[in-house]
Amino acid sequence: MWPRDMKAARTRTPRRPVPKKPSNPCVRDPVGVYCRVRPLSRPDQECCIEVIDETTVQIHPPEGYRIFRNGEYRETQYSFKEVFGALVVQKQLFDVVAKPLVEDLIRGRNGLLFTYGVTGSGKTHTMTGSPGDGGLLPRCLDMIFNSIGPFQAKRFVFKLDDKNGVEVQCEVDALLERQKRDAMPIPKTPSGKRQIDPEFADMINVQDHCKVEDVDEDNVYSVFVSYIEIYNNYIYDLLEEAPFEPIKPKPPQSKVLREDQNHNMYVTGCTEVEVKSTEEAFEVFWRGQKKRRIANTQLNRESSRSHSVFMIKLAQAPLDADGDNVLQEKEQITLSQLSLVDLAGSERTNRTKAEGNRLREAGNINQSLMTLRTCLEVLRENQMCGTNKMVPYRDCKLTHLFKNYFDGEGKVRMIVCVNPKAEDYEESLQVMRFAEMAQEVEVARPADRPICALTPGRRFRNQAFREELQRKLEMRGGPINEETEEQAVSELLLQNFPPLPSCELLDINDDQTLPKLIEVLEKRHKIRQLLSEEIAKTVRAFKTALQEFESSVASKENYVQGKLSEKEKTIAGQKMELERLEKKIKTLEYKIHILEKTTTIYEEDKRNLQQELESKSQQLQRQASDKCRMEARLQGMVTETSVKWEKECERRVAAKQLEMQNKLWVKDEKLKQLKAIVTEPKNEKPERPSRVRDREKPVQRSVSPPPAPSAPPVRLRHRRSRSAGERWVDHKPPSNVPTETVMQPQVPHAITVAAASEKALAKCDKYMLTHQELASDGEIETKLIKGDVFKTRGGGQAVQFTEIETLKQESPTGRKRRSSPSNPDQPEDAADSEWTDVETRCSVAVEMRAGSALGPGYQHHAQPKRRKP
Ligand code: ADP
Ligand code: MG
Repeated sequence: MWPRDMKAARTRTPRRPVPKKPSNPCVRDPVGVYCRVRPLSRPDQECCIEVIDETTVQIHPPEGYRIFRNGEYRETQYSFKEVFGALVVQKQLFDVVAKPLVEDLIRGRNGLLFTYGVTGSGKTHTMTGSPGDGGLLPRCLDMIFNSIGPFQAKRFVFKLDDKNGVEVQCEVDALLERQKRDAMPIPKTPSGKRQIDPEFADMINVQDHCKVEDVDEDNVYSVFVSYIEIYNNYIYDLLEEAPFEPIKPKPPQSKVLREDQNHNMYVTGCTEVEVKSTEEAFEVFWRGQKKRRIANTQLNRESSRSHSVFMIKLAQAPLDADGDNVLQEKEQITLSQLSLVDLAGSERTNRTKAEGNRLREAGNINQSLMTLRTCLEVLRENQMCGTNKMVPYRDCKLTHLFKNYFDGEGKVRMIVCVNPKAEDYEESLQVMRFAEMAQEVEVARPADRPICALTPGRRFRNQAFREELQRKLEMRGGPINEETEEQAVSELLLQNFPPLPSCELLDINDDQTLPKLIEVLEKRHKIRQLLSEEIAKTVRAFKTALQEFESSVASKENYVQGKLSEKEKTIAGQKMELERLEKKIKTLEYKIHILEKTTTIYEEDKRNLQQELESKSQQLQRQASDKCRMEARLQGMVTETSVKWEKECERRVAAKQLEMQNKLWVKDEKLKQLKAIVTEPKNEKPERPSRVRDREKPVQRSVSPPPAPSAPPVRLRHRRSRSAGERWVDHKPPSNVPTETVMQPQVPHAITVAAASEKALAKCDKYMLTHQELASDGEIETKLIKGDVFKTRGGGQAVQFTEIETLKQESPTGRKRRSSPSNPDQPEDAADSEWTDVETRCSVAVEMRAGSALGPGYQHHAQPKRRKP
């Protein structure tokens, strides 16, 4: 380490802290406004602007305009810092306008340069240039790299953060990052030679060799470029590498403006590319330009309606005392910025026949330029009148982005481009007025960057020393290791000692050699002493530095230890929390599992129930349809039955009616007979009782109603033949009382029984029961109940009663009448009916002579006239 210490001893000087550059409020510079008048496109075009001298232009209304305005003719002169006519070449313009800005940039100051004018006035031509005629931008880049070329830091030594700050990485980190970047398949910023677009190559081939003369050679530099576009008050990053999406390319995402801790504005997340040469820088610019063109085509935008901002950032930091490494202290790093702005056309909207969306967008763009105008006006007013009005920078992105420049963070220059053609007269007039106003605005001059306190010339001394050492090592030959390197270094140092003169004493009187030797030796001694003093000093300094370092390390260690224990505690806490959360996760997972199971069960149940429901509903439907059918059937049956019964009822009613009519008829008949009896002359009456029948004195009387027209059908039964002579069973219960009247029934060949006997019934075919009862008038009434005997199928006997004969006594004076069994079925012939009448009359007569004339021999052969059902 000795040689290094030696070098440090040679160059070290105390270091002063570097303050942040403040702006200088006392010195103010006006905004530098330059005017460039482009040549007419065609020589026959009418011209309305003339360059009067180096600082003045004159504008006059064109011919047609004069007629239109009633011949009013006014020519106006405008003066600027400098006016460039049609013959002025890009180089001249660059030297005057942009070169000072580049010099400022390299000296650590910011600069803003923008071109202003209507579309077609030559803004882009001025800023970017045309093939073979590069504009300000490539020239600036060329000058920057010409100036800092040999002093550029290796890639990634400077690192921009995303908060507008910069830091220096140590060599190793930078190397690692380089390696990482080189390992990538397509290096983003390759330094090797590539195929270059000929148009592009033409533009950067400025062949100017222009450079800043007094570049601080003890600094290292790095250039970063970014390129943004402001369209419709949105900021777009033109260098952003969007992921390739072949199906539906995403529209570009707008960016946000932020203010850093030094109150500088920056675009967040904006791509900043580190470039090492003019070609590389311009290629990045060209890439952005292409992207801009594509976006304009895809989104149907008018390119003249957007502001483009190309930013060149220059980071610089001093080398350490050895001239070997870059100082890493943040305060030592300077970041300066040059913004080159190609503004949108300043013309009013109606000039370009925009419609709809485009009109609105155009309105917004004009709005930005309007805001720029307002900001400059307010600034001017504040400066002239001493007011403190708020400058509306924030009203649009364009002014907000450059607010710091107007607040004294850098130099502002503007090139007003005009096309002298008559058609542009009115717009050019507006441009001139704005430009004239703008140059009245003053901007605080930024303070100079503090000079690094380290000894100048470190880089070259270091380089020279290294070259010499290299030569030495080469001369020695053999292997190069630490030992040989150290020897070479000490030899190199001894070389710096004054050479010893010849020590040989040939003459006794030689009084020159020794004093010379003494002098040289003394010189050497002095140098040695100086060197040892310096070494002692360096050692002391080194020791104190070491002590400082150690103490700082110790304190740092303590601090780190504290932090570590703190962190450990936090980690332990977090671990516990983690465990708790894990447990919770487990229980929750278990719960989820259970819930899932329950859900499946419920789902199963639901499915089953649904199926059941479906089957039930089907069943119900079936039942309902069955019910309907049944109802219909029953309805049919009911109607059928009711119809049947109605018919039956009608039929029965008819039968009843008929029966009633018959009865009525019988009654009528009786009444007639009665009437006949009553009205019959009295003398005819005794005749008939004197006949045989008189003796018989029958008590029986039978009045038969005329036969019913439709008698109910009789069930056919087997009956014994009547022709063989009927035999009767005379059933006289023993309870019977002998009435001793004349009308005792006498049945010949009858088998008289006291109780019903089957034997008797079997032998006979007629049956007669004598039944007595007490009538209401207290007399005994005897009833003879007669019937036919049938053999039943089961081999027994059955009696079907056919008639009842009632025998009754009554006083002749009594009104009582004997009733007799009705036999309406068979019509009686006239003789019969007559006989009956007589008999009735006789009976009455006989009864009047009670018990004298008639003996018990009276036979009454009751002949049934008709069976009854
Ligand atoms: P702007 O950007 O203001 O709309 P351009 O820079 O695109 O205008 O210029 C329009 C046309 O005029 C271009 O073809 C350009 O080459 C030409 N032009 C502009 N200024 C000059 C100039 N000073 N000398 C020669 N040609 C020019
Ligand atoms: Mg343009």
